Amino acid sequence: MAHVAHQALLGYDPEAILKDGCPECERRANSGLRGILELDANNLNRLWRRMLNERMSFQVNDQHQDKWGRYRSACEQQAGEQLYLLGVLEEKRRNPSDTWDPDRFDVS
Ligand SMILES: [Zn+2]
Repeated sequence: MAHVAHQALLGYDPEAILKDGCPECERRANSGLRGILELDANNLNRLWRRMLNERMSFQVNDQHQDKWGRYRSACEQQAGEQLYLLGVLEEKRRNPSDTWDPDRFDVS
């Protein structure tokens, strides 16, 4: 599958990491951790931080203009839930204090 022109999608949000209505974005959102592995490092970091805000009641920005980033699409929510489950899985075997580090995927 390929991305369609995101700007042409209904409800287009330039800040969305994964766009609803785009077959490729939706495929990634529906592919669990495999889909998340297809995100580039910057978008993985942004999705991680948005997930922390949504699921862990953090208040961290996503390093763009989107203060205290929230999910911007249903696709993002679906992918973010996979990251959350990964964190929960890790929390069962690691020191919980570093599982939810907002900067854990920051490569800058
Ligand atoms: Zn797309």
